[in-house]
Amino acid sequence: MRKRSDASSPLGFIRPAVRVMAGYTPGEQPQGGGFIKLNTNENPYAPSPRVREAIAACATDEIRLYPDPMADALRDAAAARYDLPRDHILAGNGSDELLAIVLRACTDAGDRVAYPTPTYSLYDVLVAIAGAEPVRVTIVCNPNAPSGTAIAVDEIAELSEQVAGLVVVDEAYVDFADESALALVRARPNVLVLRSLSKSFSLAGMRVGLAFGAPAVIAELCKVKDSYNLSRVSIAAGAAALADHETMRAHVRQVRTTRARLSGRLRDLGYEVPPSQANFVLARRPGCDQRGVYEALKRRRILVRYFATPELYDALRITVGTDAEVDALLAALEEIEK
Ligand SMILES: *Cc1c(COP(=O)(O)O)cnc(C)c1O
Repeated sequence: MRKRSDASSPLGFIRPAVRVMAGYTPGEQPQGGGFIKLNTNENPYAPSPRVREAIAACATDEIRLYPDPMADALRDAAAARYDLPRDHILAGNGSDELLAIVLRACTDAGDRVAYPTPTYSLYDVLVAIAGAEPVRVTIVCNPNAPSGTAIAVDEIAELSEQVAGLVVVDEAYVDFADESALALVRARPNVLVLRSLSKSFSLAGMRVGLAFGAPAVIAELCKVKDSYNLSRVSIAAGAAALADHETMRAHVRQVRTTRARLSGRLRDLGYEVPPSQANFVLARRPGCDQRGVYEALKRRRILVRYFATPELYDALRITVGTDAEVDALLAALEEIEK
């Protein structure tokens, strides 16, 4: 690794930690049409018609003005929807930004961040005796990606009692699941629940996320966010989406129905599919590299997610699309098998 003082490096001004790391690899986003896109867990159905109206209403000369720094119209819509006061809520430019805000606010260089799982509480004591740094942040993705599986909210409650750090529950997929940890934020000041409007509310292109937590924690997180982190358009679209819960629920019901059918058919094809509580399934053929299947699907203009890692090379993560998209995928898989 080159040191920052290395005058011979043309990138000596970049932090060493950044130079040595690989960047995040987003799923493919082909900008032309023509693909059945089952690779990044977007919603196949349109958002509420109210979202279009709200976005259109933003096309005025007011756009020359900065947006509300705290996105209060969106926070009020979320407060009404989730029955929590506004001071318990922070809006983010997607929940990805909220995750970045949490780490910016909570961690110093050298701190450790845990993800997941509930564990033996003696570890905390032994860490303290050793004089080691406590873990400040524990992130639990529930339902989890890319497995789609969920753990019981009771287990998250127990975890939040056992650790002193902040327990961040990433609920990007919770609307497709059976239960949520949202109620915990009233009683447990070290629980922060992150929601995204990208998946269940069909707003991936708009970038809207919400954090729910104790007011004191929310106030600290606010200090480190960008001043105007949501645009006027995102605020209006997010508030409109939250006000039409029924459209979201209807699409979620459809996705859950299609998810059951897709999971069953994949199992018939010989894949192992853990029970999914999300809008995607993980289809695994233990020990069999799925790169060839991923590539064969792509040649047929069907995108799914393949991860070239030791834990996931034998699996494909498949977003639950419309019934027609899923039928096309299943037909292609059957053809590839031959
Ligand atoms: C999609 C996703 C996010 C990001 O959501 P955005 O609101 O689109 O930034 C966060 N966490 C998980 C687990 C996700 O799958």
